[in-house]
Amino acid sequence: MRVEIEILGSGTSSGIPTVGCDCWVCRSDNPRNKRLRASALFRVGTGEAETRLLVDVTPDVRMQALRANLSSVHGVLITHTHADHCHGLDDLRALYWGGGRQPLPIRAYPEAMASLRRAFAYIFDDEYDYKGVARVSPGVFEHEPFVVAGVTVTPVPVVHGNMRVAGFRVGDVAYITDCNEVPAPSMEKLRGTRLLVLDALRRAPHPTHMSLPAALEVARRVGVERVFFTHINHDLEHDSVNRELPPWAQLGYDRLRAAVEADGRVTVTEPGPNGQPHAVAW
Ligand SMILES: [Zn+2]
Ligand SMILES: [Zn+2]
Ligand SMILES: [Zn+2]
Repeated sequence: MRVEIEILGSGTSSGIPTVGCDCWVCRSDNPRNKRLRASALFRVGTGEAETRLLVDVTPDVRMQALRANLSSVHGVLITHTHADHCHGLDDLRALYWGGGRQPLPIRAYPEAMASLRRAFAYIFDDEYDYKGVARVSPGVFEHEPFVVAGVTVTPVPVVHGNMRVAGFRVGDVAYITDCNEVPAPSMEKLRGTRLLVLDALRRAPHPTHMSLPAALEVARRVGVERVFFTHINHDLEHDSVNRELPPWAQLGYDRLRAAVEADGRVTVTEPGPNGQPHAVAW
C-alpha cells in the first residue's frame, strides 16, 4: 500500500515570514523560506481508492487546502491543541462539504478532544443546530493503534514541555511535530519507520521543541531512510542549512510530498513551476 505524506506547512507557530520581522530569512525571496503553520496530509492508496487524513487544522488551513488542490479529506488527526495546530477548525466546513457532507471523523487524545469541545462548542454540540458548520464525528485514542476511514494509525506519544503530543505513524511513514523529547517506548513504536517528518525548530536548544542536532540524532537512532524537518523558525535558512545536512536528512518545506511506494521505494515530489508535482532525484 502506497503511503504519501505532504507537508502542508513547515513553519513554527508564528509562520515565516513572521509579522514585523525583517531578518534575512523573513525577507527572503526563496519560496522555501515561506512557511505556513505546521500541518501534513497522509495520502494512503492511489486513485479513487486514495484516503486522505489531515494532521492538524492550522489557522492557514484554507490557503493550505487551496494550494494542495484539496477539496475533501476522509479524517482529521489532531496532535495537540496549541493554537497553531487547531485554530483553523472552522474552515473544515469546506472540506466537509467537498466530502459530500458526511460527518468528518476527528481523532485526538482525550484531553485534547475536551479542549476542542470547549473552544469550538458550536461545532461539537448538537444543541447549536447551525447549518454553516462542519459536521464532525469525534473520537479519542490512547496507546493502541486505531482505525480511521479504514486506515490504521499508530499514535506515537512525544513530550512537548508539560504536555503530551501525538505523533502519527501510518505504514512506514511517521509525522512527529512539537516535541522536545521522543521517549524510549515511542522510539520503539517508530522502529522500522522509513520516512519521517520531525520537529526541528532551530539550531539552539529550546524547552519545548527539538533543536536541529537533537532531531538529527533521533532520526539516526530510528534509522530512517529519509527525514524532513518541520515546525521551523526563522533561524534556519532553507538552502544554506540543507547544504550542511546529509542528503537523507533535510529541512522540509511547504508542499513537499514524499512517499513509501507500494514496491517499497521512497520517492520525493515537489511542486513544479506550473504547480504540477514532479519527481526529484536524491
Ligand atoms: Zn506548534
Ligand atoms: Zn525573521
Ligand atoms: Zn505546540
